[in-house]
Amino acid sequence: MEPISLVHASLGERELAAVAEVFASGWPAGQGPKGKALEAQLAQKYGVGDAVAVSNCGAALHLAVLALGVGPGDEVIVADYGFPAPAQAVRYVDAVPVFADVRPDTYTIDPQAVADLITERTVGVIAVDTVGLPADYTELQEICDRHGLFLVEDAACAVGATYQGRQAGALAEIGCLSFHGRKGASSGEGGALLARDPKIGKDVRLRSSFGIGSIFDMGNVVGLPVPTFTEIGYNFKLSDIAAAILQVQLGRIDELTERRTAFARQYSELLADEELLTLPTVPQDRTHAWQTYMVTLDASVDRAAVAAELRGQGIGCGHGTFAAHVQPVFETTQKCPVSADLFQRQLSVPMHAELKPNQVERVVTALRSAVRTHSSSTRVLGGAA
Ligand SMILES: *Cc1c(COP(=O)(O)O)cnc(C)c1O
Repeated sequence: MEPISLVHASLGERELAAVAEVFASGWPAGQGPKGKALEAQLAQKYGVGDAVAVSNCGAALHLAVLALGVGPGDEVIVADYGFPAPAQAVRYVDAVPVFADVRPDTYTIDPQAVADLITERTVGVIAVDTVGLPADYTELQEICDRHGLFLVEDAACAVGATYQGRQAGALAEIGCLSFHGRKGASSGEGGALLARDPKIGKDVRLRSSFGIGSIFDMGNVVGLPVPTFTEIGYNFKLSDIAAAILQVQLGRIDELTERRTAFARQYSELLADEELLTLPTVPQDRTHAWQTYMVTLDASVDRAAVAAELRGQGIGCGHGTFAAHVQPVFETTQKCPVSADLFQRQLSVPMHAELKPNQVERVVTALRSAVRTHSSSTRVLGGAA
């Protein structure tokens, strides 16, 4: 039977045509005409002070903590459940990631857990829009304001989502986006940092480019300006090839998000009666970008056996995402029981805009059969039937 992949980026003829334009222009590197146009498009779409195109979301998070002045010994509270890039970014600057547990229903950072973790060394919070669902920014902002902390939104998975009528990515003073091939809008690898304060944007753009301005611009002015290096920067620039692809992808976000939302709805309807599964919930005040559709298996179900059975039928699946505090690299003794439990029991199933309704039906049938076969619960009468 035809395989059904977990992920499939929606890249086509229009993106190819945009790349061809870059080839013809002779400027494939970063901060050229396409990069600048993408940044203007992002700043306008999100209504922010500045948008900086960067090589990936990990780089955006790194530049965010640098711009916010996070340094050795500072504590930054990070969402525990999700790809552990925020905690890594905190470590890049020798600061201390402090892991906050998540809500059991939305899997996003629990504002009460954040409030409980604040110490005199806490300088800020990095919330994650877990697999595309925005966190509780009203409550988080209130806590951060009360304690004088910064708030960063890791919206890597959330391009296309909304919270209280506002776009994910623009829900905090800094938002970090990912355009990795597994996210809703993609250029293969790519990212952006959205900043309300243009001063932050300026700082980030300089640090993303070895601490000097655009090489493209330098070649296009009259005279011979020789740049001065005044601080250590990095090369985190996004190429103009990727920027051209993203200009097309940005125009398609609504359509691609609608398609994934329809498949999420189909999964949720077809699986609603399956008692061995808990399905994702979306609070009334926000919408999901559906970067991933994760089900939570009953504790009686052998997840590895279910995954092997699905993969045996050509159906892509995965463990969902990560609990950060259990990763050996972070050497923490903290406990985040909700996140740890989700990390054991969640399973991601195929979710992308190129799915077909009959493929979703096939996944549902296979998943339902597999969880029943591999449950040790006596509640499931009929078992493997
Ligand atoms: C994917 C992801 C990242 C990393 O994005 P890259 O663009 O691959 O660096 C960061 N944070 C979260 C929550 C992610 O899901």
